[in-house]
Amino acid sequence: MSDPTIDLDGVEVSHKDIEIARDGDLTVRVIEYEEIDSDGNMEPAFATDFCVQKEILKKRSPVFASMLGPHWREGKQKLIELHEDTGISTTAIHVWLRIFHGDGDSKETCGKVNHEHLWHVYEAAQKYRLEIDDAKAWFDLWWNAHELEVDCRIANQLLFPCWAFRHLRAFGYVTKIVVYNEAGYISPVNPTPHKDLQLPDKIPQQLNKAKLKLKDTVQKMLWEPMAEFLQKERSGSEDKRFVQHQRRLVRKNIWPSEKARVDNGIEHLLERIESLKVDRAEENSDLHEYTQGDHLDASLGLAVEKTRTQFDGLCLKCMAMSESGRGKSDEAYFAKNRRKDWDDECRDEGMDHGDDSWFFSYLGRRPFTERREYWWDSWNDDRWW
Ligand SMILES: [Zn+2]
Repeated sequence: MSDPTIDLDGVEVSHKDIEIARDGDLTVRVIEYEEIDSDGNMEPAFATDFCVQKEILKKRSPVFASMLGPHWREGKQKLIELHEDTGISTTAIHVWLRIFHGDGDSKETCGKVNHEHLWHVYEAAQKYRLEIDDAKAWFDLWWNAHELEVDCRIANQLLFPCWAFRHLRAFGYVTKIVVYNEAGYISPVNPTPHKDLQLPDKIPQQLNKAKLKLKDTVQKMLWEPMAEFLQKERSGSEDKRFVQHQRRLVRKNIWPSEKARVDNGIEHLLERIESLKVDRAEENSDLHEYTQGDHLDASLGLAVEKTRTQFDGLCLKCMAMSESGRGKSDEAYFAKNRRKDWDDECRDEGMDHGDDSWFFSYLGRRPFTERREYWWDSWNDDRWW
């Protein structure tokens, strides 16, 4: 029978027993702390005793191996204490212990685990020198259980964990959500006390560039038919229609480009454009048909469609291929572009993407980036003008 409270150096704390290994020969006592005053002083708040196999722990972590080595003084008690006063959650240790014992897919360590604990799981790997690859299968199960709950706020908090666990599909998904939906500048949020855990600066920079490119695409696609219109002589009624079109865009803060508001996110801009389509539809105009008469209206639908499907998120595989390192070539990364097969080798691992994802996943050296950005702009100019 588990004691509901135990005494830790004169402090009475809540207590729980969890059996990980039925024939366990060691108790791992995880002690969570809480702040007791505004100076940041901590006191034990909660203790959980996990029943585990000693040899399994020693194999998985050099830190545990040394704790349980020949000088292990706690031999008689068969207990080690982990003082998590740096804020690692008991849940995170629970996840690791389950993974060690081949039980990483249990409900308690997948479905019920809140996304913030992903950070703790990663921090625990740093502290106890655990192999992050050992948690990959667990992370995949976690993702499958939680993918549908991920909105923009959570996606932002998942950028680091999805990157740190090297989950191709999840990282693509969360980067896509933030690029399309984040209001203002994309800046990853760390909701935990582990402030040392940060994405490399280059990643948020690429996300913000991808977002600007989407805004650019919308504007170019709205402008293209207007430019075409202006190049020819028009009748008075056609001119009137042109002014009407512009006025509608201006009223919804979609036009002109410099004033178009994307501070509620790209998706919000696209929805405003779609609302114009609906308005016109009420006037019995078929917007989906690209006819000469409805040229301007059709451009709205095309701009939305093209922009929504342009960016598939950042690709960890392309990032790894382009990252420069000692003696490492990024040739395979550039070869994909020559073949126009941008997600070659990525598709098989669950990340289908086009050229924009390939392009913004470039993490190579600066001069290459600059040269390629020049190429990208000129390529786009040829295409649009
Ligand atoms: Zn890729």
